[in-house]
This record gives sequence, C-alpha cells and structure tokens, in this order.
Amino acid sequence: MAGRDKRRRAAPLEGDEQQLRRRLEEAALLLRRIKGLVRWIVEEVAAGRSPSIVLHRYRNYCSSADSASPSPCACSYDIPVGTDVLSLLHKDYHTSRLNVLLRVLFVVQHLLQQNKHCSKRDIYYMYPSIFVEVAVVDRAINDICILFKCSRHNLNVVPVVKGLVMGWIRFMEGEKKVYCITSVNAAFSIPVDIEAIKDVVSVAHYILVVEKETVFQRLANDKFCERNRCIVITGRGYPDIPTRRFLRYLVELLHLPAYCLVDSDPYGFDILATYKFGSLQLAHDANLLRVPDIRWLGVFTSDFEEYCLPDCCLLRLSPEDRRKAEGILARCYLHREAPEWRSELEAMLQKGVKFEIEALSANSISFLSHEYIPQKIKQGMHL
Ligand SMILES: [Zn+2]
Repeated sequence: MAGRDKRRRAAPLEGDEQQLRRRLEEAALLLRRIKGLVRWIVEEVAAGRSPSIVLHRYRNYCSSADSASPSPCACSYDIPVGTDVLSLLHKDYHTSRLNVLLRVLFVVQHLLQQNKHCSKRDIYYMYPSIFVEVAVVDRAINDICILFKCSRHNLNVVPVVKGLVMGWIRFMEGEKKVYCITSVNAAFSIPVDIEAIKDVVSVAHYILVVEKETVFQRLANDKFCERNRCIVITGRGYPDIPTRRFLRYLVELLHLPAYCLVDSDPYGFDILATYKFGSLQLAHDANLLRVPDIRWLGVFTSDFEEYCLPDCCLLRLSPEDRRKAEGILARCYLHREAPEWRSELEAMLQKGVKFEIEALSANSISFLSHEYIPQKIKQGMHL
C-alpha cells in the first residue's frame, strides 16, 4: 500500500486538509485491498483449491553477533528475512493463524467502513474462545500490517496510551487543545492518534525522554521545564507505539535533538535501545517508529563514582540481569550502529553493578534537574 513511503516524507509537513484527504484515500485503498483478498479466498475455496497467503518475516536485529568477529547478518529495517506460508485447508498451526487473521480482518474492515477505532483488547473480546489470548490478536494485527504493508494506525486499531508529555509545546489533537506551554510543569497525555495532531507550535531547544514516571514527576516538581526550554516525554517504562510515534513525529517536525535518560541497568538499556532501534515484535514497522539519532544522556556506570553517589544506592547485577545484558550485547545493531553504547553496556557488565536514576537525588533532592541534566546537555556529555 502507498501509505508507508508516503508518510515517511510527507506527514509532518502536510496541511490539515491534505492530511485528512490522504487518510481517507489510504483507508479506501486498504478497504479495496481487503475486499480483493477476501474475494480471492472465497473463489479459491469455491473452486476446490487451498488458498495460501505468503507473509514476509521481518527482523530488525538478531543476537548472533560475536564481539570478536561480528559476522554480517540478514537483519534489515526494510528487507524481509524470510516468509511464512499460511494456508487455509492444511490442518496445522498456520491454518489457525490464517483463520484468526481473517476474523481480525473482518473487524478491521468494519472499523474502516465506519471510520471507528478500537483496541486489540476490544477485538479479542469479540471472539475470545477462538482467539484464546490477546497475544494471538496482536500477532494477527502484525500479520495484516505486513500483508498490506501498513501500520497499526492505518487499521484503526489503537492502543490505550500511557505516555506523558510536558514543556514548551502546544498543539491541537483533533478539536482538543493540548496547550502544555501554558503550564509547562504539568503532565499531559500523549495523543493516541498522531494523525489527529495539528497546529504544532514549540519554542523548545531539545526533547528529553525519561524512562520512568517517577523521574518525570521529579522534574515536574523541580519546575525543570520552567528553567529549561525543552519538551519532556516519558513512556513509563517500555514505550508504547503512540509514545514512540509522537517522539519521532516531534523530532522530524521540529528538528530538535532528543536525549534519553534511563536507569543504569540492562532494562534501562533495553528501553533506550527500543527508542533508537525499535522492538523485535514490531520489526516490520521499526523504521517508522524509531528515532535513530536519539542520544544517550545517562545514567552511566561511571556516573556513580563521578558524582560520588552513596554506596547504599549501588546494587549487584543479578544472574537474570547478567543474562539480559549478555543477550543485548550480542545484538547485531549495536555492533553496526552504536559500538560506543555497546562498550558502555560492557563496562556495566564488567563492573557487575547497577543503580537507578533516582540515586542522583540521594545527596541532594534537586541535583538531577538543577545540575546533572543541564550540565550534561550543555557540555555535550552524551553518547
Ligand atoms: Zn542481525
């Protein structure tokens, strides 16, 4: 479908009317393609044949990289690494996968026809005995996106948002005013529907992404945005699709640098990597969701000694932490695109310790917002 390439270059620069027209055209095209597919399946079955669908398989990274001699792999943001063949008449796992796909497609068709939206959980509750669990619906939605080369929002399947934003920005979300700029220390929900955003105005100099809501709240309490011309975003842990799309949208539209602050542990690093490289689950869409130029502001293992943080904040890496870190170290994208990030994670593993962002507040409650972050940004101390 035309959506993918078109959106990449045009979306943030279009006017509202153009954007609306493009969305309607995309929905109409998708509907035609769904109908075409269903008609073809019915004709095949009627003719006594077993219709099968070829689905590309995507992988934005693998874990086969060897630190000594990183061998080239097939991972790519755009090129599939293999295919699955889903057939309707053979009795196997792929039959039920195609069965689920067609049922979800039926729901999507209704959503598009009526211009309505719903969540994957809503879809699950329409046929719970067939779908068994939400993850099955999730898989089918991914399959549909791959089949029609589109993204989830094109299907009108929307998530429940959890991301927050504050700072020097204002915009419209449909007819709703989201004027963060009138109260820069207050948290606003990140919009579910990025396509509905218009009239964006911002005087920010950079975007700061923080891993956790507690840190976001710390910055709000310290009036961080009043003292610093910026936009602060949190995905509250692993970021959902709207948070990642919103960040990507702002970075492209406003041409601002984005910095990311995460805990000094393997989970913090994985969250950071999700922002930069995308997740494996959504590998087929990673290139539209990721922010390749995001910079890692901290916290680094070396910060602990550098800022004389108290020993009580330092924890040993658990066996699970070590396994997680080793798994991440083997990911091919770190070798290819971020060797300096990889070295930093290696240093964490070698030292065998971890600590949270909040450790920076242990000696002085506002140290993080008054000194650590502004100094690091001013002095370019990031990776
Ligand atoms: Zn790979």
